[in-house]
Amino acid sequence: MIDLRSDTLTRPTDAMRRAMAAAEVGDDVFSEDPTAIRLQEVVAERLGKEAALFVSSGVMGNQLAVRLHTRPGDEVVCEAGCHIANYESAASAALWGVQLRTVEGSRGHLSAADVENAIRPGHYWEPQPRVVALENTHNKAGGVVLRHPDVLAIERVARARGLAFHCDGARIWNASVATGIPERDLVAPFDTVSVCLSKGLGAPVGSVLVGPTELISEARRYRKMLGGGMRQVGLLAAAGLHALEHHRDDLAVDHENARRLASGLASIRGVSVDPDRVETNIVMFDVPDRAATEVVARLKEAGVLVAAFARHTLRAVTYRDLGRADIDAALIAVARALAA
Ligand SMILES: *Cc1c(COP(=O)(O)O)cnc(C)c1O
Repeated sequence: MIDLRSDTLTRPTDAMRRAMAAAEVGDDVFSEDPTAIRLQEVVAERLGKEAALFVSSGVMGNQLAVRLHTRPGDEVVCEAGCHIANYESAASAALWGVQLRTVEGSRGHLSAADVENAIRPGHYWEPQPRVVALENTHNKAGGVVLRHPDVLAIERVARARGLAFHCDGARIWNASVATGIPERDLVAPFDTVSVCLSKGLGAPVGSVLVGPTELISEARRYRKMLGGGMRQVGLLAAAGLHALEHHRDDLAVDHENARRLASGLASIRGVSVDPDRVETNIVMFDVPDRAATEVVARLKEAGVLVAAFARHTLRAVTYRDLGRADIDAALIAVARALAA
């Protein structure tokens, strides 16, 4: 089976497992786990922020940020296809009493004018806008890298209106590798950033929330409240450190494989995809004449797993456990399955 459903499917390598087994640990609820502390220092440094907190998932990182920047009755301005609005079980509403003001972007991109128009004046009878949240790379739009000038222009709008600025940087590593712009420069405009170690970087578990020391201390309290205070968590943090050191640069290979996959798909009858739109490791492709769910089932029989994202849209993601040969084999299987 060639599993293209998600880059979260990466398995820890033997070297990563050795690093985990050898990790020095302590009780992280007492802030005494040296490996978790080191991971937090390394990530804060890499992202150019004061402080960092290791958390169990990207959802927890984002939701801690929502909590830090809001109170009940407040509003988050974000792009309509973003993870916070679509894949976090309505946590902002369910946990924090916060509503999302979703703005329809163009393939994941928002302009400063889009954001400005979505920020309410803030009359007392309105939801109170408190934070603008962007996603880089944008998952649902197909691993799209935000344009840095757009981000800077949106930051100016947010600052002018006194709003905080959060980045869901689950795949900020991919954005950095794709553009050659260091992560710290990509996230410099933001107050808080949540990054995933468990996607293409290949750690089994974990995300990190970074930001100002004061906010991150507060986040530690809310993490505990959510049941996210973990004990000898250095075992997991060691995997994250190993991933950053040894896997980050390899993301370029995933990007190459994604382009190869998209070019191959483009030549299969019944598939519609523009390979030039593949910027990182995610390939969104359309099957205009068929239901996406039917194609998922058919490809599964042919030994290829992909995910249905809309009625006629599928997602395939490349990651380090899949080589070029797997991509070529997947293409042959897809072509056969769709010809049948
Ligand atoms: C995967 C992902 C997350 C977090 O997911 P978890 O499964 O909770 O780690 C957040 N944002 C984006 C854009 C993602 O792709």
